[in-house]
Amino acid sequence: MQTKRLLAVWAHPDDEAFGPVGTMRLAVDQGWQTAVISATRGDAGKSEAAHLAPGQTLGDFRENELRCSCGVLGVSQLHVWRHADGSLHDLPPELLAEQVLAVMRDWQPTIVITFGPDGVTGHPDHIAISRATETAFTRYREEQTTIQPRLYYNTIPADRVIEHPMGDAPPPKPATTVIDVSAYETIKREALCCHESQRADWEPLLADRDWLLIDRMFRVFPPVAPDEPVASTIFDE
Ligand SMILES: [Zn+2]
Repeated sequence: MQTKRLLAVWAHPDDEAFGPVGTMRLAVDQGWQTAVISATRGDAGKSEAAHLAPGQTLGDFRENELRCSCGVLGVSQLHVWRHADGSLHDLPPELLAEQVLAVMRDWQPTIVITFGPDGVTGHPDHIAISRATETAFTRYREEQTTIQPRLYYNTIPADRVIEHPMGDAPPPKPATTVIDVSAYETIKREALCCHESQRADWEPLLADRDWLLIDRMFRVFPPVAPDEPVASTIFDE
């Protein structure tokens, strides 16, 4: 039987904790193996709350926070790349896509999750890794003879987009899958708490019950039919 493998592709340490945490952990509880890519070590993040040891960089510190979070999520394989935080959109798109494709070829995921073209926050790194993942996914899918892989964007309701401080971005895609992850609220809080240095970013969100208890996805491939009802899981489609 084919091993059930999921790959989530992000730009920074903490993207995985802001993202579909409940779904990631639900996958593990349903017998999936999960892998995470973080294309940077978050070295341009908030540093005031990072208590660095002598010789330790913010990137070192945030990589440790990411490892803590992935432990909470039960991630089997973590790839932390050393692209500079804030540089992804300046890299040759082909380079980033080839790196993602190499992981896909090795890991052989059935499900791939990344940002949509909106990047959720409009961050250029999020948008760049989304594009690279989509390019890589198309090639990976065309190479497949046994797996029929599926690609999802993590998405949010349009009325939750507050602002795009990094610039303009398209609106988020409408959810094609709405997942009740209320059973994983504690896991979500624990994953976020791993990112203590970035607490100022996520602490206000803890009051948002919708954000804590519901994960939303947009299925990119296979495309959703116009009359297809909203799904409640990404694992049985
Ligand atoms: Zn990010």
